[in-house]
Amino acid sequence: MRTYVDTIDSVLKGDTTIAAITDSTLKKIEDQSNLNHFITVATDSAPIAAQQADKRISAGEKLPLDGMLIALKDNLCTKSMRTTCASKMLGNYRPVYDATAVSRLMDNGAVIVGKTNLDEFAMGSSGENSAFGRTLHPLDNAYVPGGSSSGSAVAVTVGHAHAALGSETGGSVRQPAAFCGIVGYKPSYGRISRYGLVAFASSIDQIGVFAKDIPTTAALLDAITGNDPYDSTSAEIPPMNSLAKLHEYANTPLTIAILPDNIIKDCSQEVLEVYNKCLNTLRAEGIRFITAEIPASDAWIPTYYVLTSAEASSNLARFDGIRYGFRASLENSDDDIMTLSRSQGFGMEVKRRIILGTYVLSAGHYDAYYKKAQQARRLIYDGYKHIFSQADALFLPTTPTTAFKSGEKTNDPIAMYLSDYFTASANLAGIPAISIPAGTASNGFPVGMQIQTSNFSDERLLSIAHRFQTLFL
Ligand code: GLN
Repeated sequence: MRTYVDTIDSVLKGDTTIAAITDSTLKKIEDQSNLNHFITVATDSAPIAAQQADKRISAGEKLPLDGMLIALKDNLCTKSMRTTCASKMLGNYRPVYDATAVSRLMDNGAVIVGKTNLDEFAMGSSGENSAFGRTLHPLDNAYVPGGSSSGSAVAVTVGHAHAALGSETGGSVRQPAAFCGIVGYKPSYGRISRYGLVAFASSIDQIGVFAKDIPTTAALLDAITGNDPYDSTSAEIPPMNSLAKLHEYANTPLTIAILPDNIIKDCSQEVLEVYNKCLNTLRAEGIRFITAEIPASDAWIPTYYVLTSAEASSNLARFDGIRYGFRASLENSDDDIMTLSRSQGFGMEVKRRIILGTYVLSAGHYDAYYKKAQQARRLIYDGYKHIFSQADALFLPTTPTTAFKSGEKTNDPIAMYLSDYFTASANLAGIPAISIPAGTASNGFPVGMQIQTSNFSDERLLSIAHRFQTLFL
């Protein structure tokens, strides 16, 4: 698939139509359904949206995202398609409303091509925890594409969408973007309305964006950001205006913070090689580096899992087999409907988080775990504030390793959780962060590098990322 800019250019020249591109894309999705990247394909609604966009263009009324084909992670509510969260619990759930981000995409002319596979309720790092089966890595099907937004990452990678929405609680957009070799963006907390994003950990969740290039990412963000009265945590600031400002940092001198060696050394050899190559490229560009002081880096992952599990245990209490979603049959059972429905409706990983979350919130353990983790979250936030008082951005690998084999970490949750090592702290602090393709490792898999900046400096982040991506290509 060509980039969005190329696509819309050829549509405007009259060489092709959005309807034709949409039809051929829907066929490709069908032909490569073995990747298991889509849960529902918009075979009915996408062609209609495409025809409407073509009509607008012929009438000279082009909208900002006309001709952009977009895939949605299946934890974003859509009226026209079921929203499963890759869970048996919501297998046939049909929301009565569209998520704000989704309605803004449609209002701006985008064509939604379908709903993508994910780790159940966005809990996972590999795309393996889905009630609909695992998502495959397009380069080697024995490997995982990363998670939890596995299907959205694959859809963009193989050209079945110009861009995709995912969700980020601890790296679920940046990590699969790095494993697949594309761009993954996590905005500042409060930038994009969470209305209609099925909640995992509400004080941390954000909708994120996948694309192959920064201009497409920027155009999409400009269209969906901005205050939303339906989400009380959405920031009262105007929508982003990043596309127009992409060149703002193209030539400015930059001071970039990097992690101390004792943290970086945990990366695999393949990732380290690409990381060092990137540092040399940036040094040659005249970028000044400082080493960041990182307080409590060993607390990143425990803090993240204590807080997100606590919030998840509360958020997922609504799935009780009574109000909506899956209801178990009581025949031949002495159990109550709630226990039975939750036991049968949720997968292993979701149950693990609910149990852990309930434990850390329980009266006897609250102070030792939940309260401690809240204090650690504050330290992480303050640590970032200090870094950004000295540097324009922090530069670091997105993941400690490249894509791993399916099954390799399924029996070792701690090893799986460590794949979020470099991503989760940005979510805890609420800062914006991006993963950009940085090269191919000696094992043939892509490597992503990450840039993080201070709260609500999303436009600066995109501009720096645009400059770096050009250098790494
Ligand atoms: N891998 C992390 C987890 O399992 C991140 C999930 C996410 O960002 N949604 O919780």
